[in-house]
Amino acid sequence: MCIEIKHKCVGGHQSAQFSNLDNLLPAAVIDKVYCPQCVEKPEFNGATMLADNGWVIEYDMELAVYLLGKHGIEKEAVTPEFIFDNRYSTWQGMSPTDMEESIRERQDIIALAKVDKAKYFATMKSWSIDRMKAFTEAGWRKAQAA
Ligand SMILES: [Zn+2]
Repeated sequence: MCIEIKHKCVGGHQSAQFSNLDNLLPAAVIDKVYCPQCVEKPEFNGATMLADNGWVIEYDMELAVYLLGKHGIEKEAVTPEFIFDNRYSTWQGMSPTDMEESIRERQDIIALAKVDKAKYFATMKSWSIDRMKAFTEAGWRKAQAA
């Protein structure tokens, strides 16, 4: 089970939604989040930060190393990329705002189901394919491996 984790960017513009695999890492492992509009970004530090399409996540690496260490993961292996790519603490969905946008967009399509079932299924299918393609083209990290 993954509990919903929301983290507002430092500038207070937007909230990013996270998903932490099996809750091995608590929400507190996400130290700071910077959205593309955040102007006061610190100098990028690859030892604690992960950049994805204009967003920057700063992790509490000390906490991550400690907690993952309890599960037998060696200190040297724990990097921001490792945490993100192994879903220990990553976007919920493909981007920080994927879940919210997806729910909103889906509501519009679901409304169609009441009117035209066949069109609804076709729209739903092409919607998810187009969406995935858009994430890949936009360069989101999680959409690249797929
Ligand atoms: Zn911001």
